[in-house]
Amino acid sequence: MKLTDEQLQEIKAHIHKLALEHGFQDARVCDTSTEGYYPKLEQWIAEKRHGDMTFFERNQNLRQNPQELHPGTARIISLRYDYLPENAKFSTPLKDPNLANVSRYALGRDYHKLMRKKLDKICQSLSEYFSLKDVIDFRVFVDSAPVMESCFAEKSGIGWKGKHTLIINPDAGSWFFLGEIFINLPLPVDQPIENQCGSCTACISICPTGAIIAPNKVDATKCISYLTIENKGGIPEDLREKIGNRIYGCDDCQLACPWNRYAQTSTDKDFLPRNQLDEISLFDLWRWSESEFNENLAGTPIRRIGYQSWLRNLAVAIGNAEYSDEMIIALELKMSEANEMVQEHIQWAIQQLNAKRLEQMSLAKKTQRLIHCVTSMLPRDA
Ligand code: SF4
Ligand code: SF4
Repeated sequence: MKLTDEQLQEIKAHIHKLALEHGFQDARVCDTSTEGYYPKLEQWIAEKRHGDMTFFERNQNLRQNPQELHPGTARIISLRYDYLPENAKFSTPLKDPNLANVSRYALGRDYHKLMRKKLDKICQSLSEYFSLKDVIDFRVFVDSAPVMESCFAEKSGIGWKGKHTLIINPDAGSWFFLGEIFINLPLPVDQPIENQCGSCTACISICPTGAIIAPNKVDATKCISYLTIENKGGIPEDLREKIGNRIYGCDDCQLACPWNRYAQTSTDKDFLPRNQLDEISLFDLWRWSESEFNENLAGTPIRRIGYQSWLRNLAVAIGNAEYSDEMIIALELKMSEANEMVQEHIQWAIQQLNAKRLEQMSLAKKTQRLIHCVTSMLPRDA
């Protein structure tokens, strides 16, 4: 069955309508070429900027050629799903070193399954449309396979790739997830939009660890999102203080981006914070047992990192928090539950806190001496 240009245009409009009905804010189409994008990725991998994410080294052919990943693919539909709820308490945890700071996208339900289901439903409805069942073939992806998602989002005009490497939409900022539908129909393609970063470098300047090493180039081995999520090993000591209280991911480059003034909020209740993770103390989280970690974080992306990485991240954040006797005791009590790598992080946290205590004590002594000195210089009857 050969489809006419009018029919393809109509199918494309129908896909857009279905996407909006299923909660997406946009759905745009591009061809399958990764030209101009793949060589940069290859270079990034060659420079070992991907750390332990060895999946980047595998299936390079599939990443470069979408038709190899799903034979017959003619177009890629890129879809945007906003996740920022109203009243996102960004600044509260970042300002208080005793609170945990969790990346905004991870506070609610895991988006992978949720978006996949929605994409499957769109494709199901589409195949029933105009009896396309016999001609249509598709496959959906949400962060799950070697797919160059930001390449397709940029080519299709979902947004442009900011200097922090995330996609920015001029009317919606960057707080959104991306999903893709690979489809065999030669739908008309959309046009990319102009990159509007201009001379701004706010994300580069704000990055706590200097991970944005050049515009559009992030060294994952320095990025807090990688260090606290993908990284399975220890966190380099020279970066621990810079991580502050960020226990899962980092939003700083997005927070600094002026385009997020235009961010659209989402009404999807699945992305509302769970377990008060948007305003909870490090001390409370540290006291969770492994079963509490598994129960409380079921259905969120955080659980994927596992209990030991969770403890590792918390230990670093606690080392950057304020000293308290209770915290030192709590740290020591966890030693028996921690593996060797995490134990080293706990030791580091204890040393950091003790150093702060000594500093506080010597400051108190100095103040006392100063007061004594000043009062002894005053005339007796003054
Ligand atoms: S997520 Fe954080 S650490 Fe990573 S590049 Fe952005 S600001 Fe830097
Ligand atoms: S902060 Fe500035 S440079 Fe960075 S992505 Fe946003 S607009 Fe572009």
